[in-house]
Amino acid sequence: MGLYEETGERLRRGMEGGRAETLKVIASVVLSRLRADGGRLRKMMERYRRIKEGAVGRLEELVGLAKDSLRAVGCEVFEARRGGEAVDYLLKQMGDERVVVKSKSNTLKELDLVERLEERGVEVVETDLGDRIIQLAGEEPLHPVGPAVHLTLEEVARALSREVGRELPPDVEEIIKASRLRLRERILEAKVGLTGANAIAAEEGAVGLVENEGNISLITRLPEKHLAVAGIEKIVPTLEDAATVMKTCEAFLTVTGAYHSFIRGPSRTADVMGIEQFGMHGAKEVHVVLLDGWRREAVRMGLEEVLYCCNCGACLSVCPVLLEAAQAFSSRVGAGPVGVVRTWFVLGPEEAVRAGLFACTGCGACREICPGSIDFPSIIERLRAEACERGLVLPPHISVAENIRKTGNPFGERRPQP
Ligand code: SF4
Ligand code: SF4
Repeated sequence: MGLYEETGERLRRGMEGGRAETLKVIASVVLSRLRADGGRLRKMMERYRRIKEGAVGRLEELVGLAKDSLRAVGCEVFEARRGGEAVDYLLKQMGDERVVVKSKSNTLKELDLVERLEERGVEVVETDLGDRIIQLAGEEPLHPVGPAVHLTLEEVARALSREVGRELPPDVEEIIKASRLRLRERILEAKVGLTGANAIAAEEGAVGLVENEGNISLITRLPEKHLAVAGIEKIVPTLEDAATVMKTCEAFLTVTGAYHSFIRGPSRTADVMGIEQFGMHGAKEVHVVLLDGWRREAVRMGLEEVLYCCNCGACLSVCPVLLEAAQAFSSRVGAGPVGVVRTWFVLGPEEAVRAGLFACTGCGACREICPGSIDFPSIIERLRAEACERGLVLPPHISVAENIRKTGNPFGERRPQP
């Protein structure tokens, strides 16, 4: 099957199977909350955009400042130019550990780290309940924020029964209670916790994290080692800026976050004879991987707005293509407009076409709702032009171009002679 047929097939499959219907339900919940908050959100969006514009505008300076500040508070910092370097560093830090507990992270998806760890025989335990259900059910996630919402109660109970070692009834409370107990056991047995980061405060050397379940608090405190991976676009100048970014992102999430935390190095105490020791209740070692990957390339191409994304997922609730074609407008690195643009950089132009680069209608709804007001229609148009220059042209484009050349209109209709 050629690229064109494959893209069409993905779109057709995406429109079947009821997944798009589930996405519409999530969208209606998010949109009604955002509408109710209208004026307040507008102001937050303006502040958020100013912070991100300023931060990306002084990216190199802030990366340097963040590295110094994080080291000053006791973190180990590794700057990775490419994803492979980040993976190698993380694998080295994992040592001989056979279990790692992990939270949701788009940056980790980009690295394909879970597959690399599993190849080495390391068990990766997702600790976000939705992600854990998907992992145990062997399913594809539907929505980045609600990955398992398309599964029925019976399907969820079946997937988790194997994990908890007894047959769970299709009952929400029972399922959550059993999962909580089992996940706690897994978290207590792990020596390494793996997370992303919602923001990094350059001046204070702080890693900001937002969560709703409380799993991130546990996996950053209980295991001895905390490995945090952050794209360099997560760096903002100050703790106040980081708090604004996290607050704004949270306001646009499908589920509001119950916890906001900042981590400034390993847990420590000096309560015994005033001698400072690391690793009291929290992690003894905190490693922060600052990943470039494709981000500097995006800035070089003049597409730095992509770096304003905080992964809130609000654009997914308004994108007509995603709402009709579900996963057909996505790849393993993300869904919707931001997913397609990241796919371009992480997996390459051909994969971006497969993920729906040419499916976008250019309606601009994503730009309107995005806290960073990212101009995706223009970014996608620019990448489409690049794709065409690389020969990634779909057959209908050729016939439209020929029609315009021959008749002056895309439909090939000749004007009636007067
Ligand atoms: S501009 Fe494209 S990506 Fe954005 S909402 Fe419209 S169809 Fe979706
Ligand atoms: S592009 Fe904007 S709306 Fe979409 S996930 Fe990122 S920040 Fe949220």
